Amino acid sequence: LKSPYHGGHLEVIVGPMFSGKSEELIRRLTRAVIARQRVAVFKPAIDSRYHVTHVASHAGRSTPAVAVRDAAAIRAHLTGEGALLPAPEQPLPEVVGIDEAQFFGRDLGPLVLGLAEEGVRVILAGLDLDFRAEPFGCIPDLLARAESVEKLTAICTVCGAPATRSQRLIGGQPARYDDPVVLVGAQETYEARCRVHHRVVR
Ligand code: ADP
Repeated sequence: LKSPYHGGHLEVIVGPMFSGKSEELIRRLTRAVIARQRVAVFKPAIDSRYHVTHVASHAGRSTPAVAVRDAAAIRAHLTGEGALLPAPEQPLPEVVGIDEAQFFGRDLGPLVLGLAEEGVRVILAGLDLDFRAEPFGCIPDLLARAESVEKLTAICTVCGAPATRSQRLIGGQPARYDDPVVLVGAQETYEARCRVHHRVVR
């Protein structure tokens, strides 16, 4: 599979919820598999143990992935560190995909940039903006450092225009700016919205 980049590099896919980030990530990873490249896929885990799971799109496509707690666990998984039996040193995969990248902490940057330096094609998918439409965590820095950036849009659920933002609704009402990110027991949903129809209560 010919890549326009020589050796390792970073590709970032961003946009609001429902913009097709997972679909696009799965599309690129599937092509790499067809090209017989070694591919490893990760996503953040809620619990501490890493486990085998899937990256799935809202439209139903999916690809196998490993759920990990943090960026250090990605490095450990790739190098076989911490395995029960000492394994022979494994080569890095040619392609590493990471979904929901915005949920990894500050150490995602050094990890993925290090992999790119070591010759790996790294493909990240994640939210560029949080529900307040503020830049999300480690993503802005990686957008600046990436060789390739794709900004996708969804469809605004109010007017049908291209949507660039994720509307957070709590009990059907727009969330407040200072609402905690995790709300226990609340009926919480998200919708894709354009700039005009995105609401944050201050
Ligand atoms: P993301 O990873 O960005 O959340 P997915 O790849 O999981 O997006 O899902 C994209 C799919 O979601 C679209 O192809 C479409 O089938 C579906 N979808 C549901 N609601 C919307 C919407 N408001 N705008 C666009 N696509 C939507």
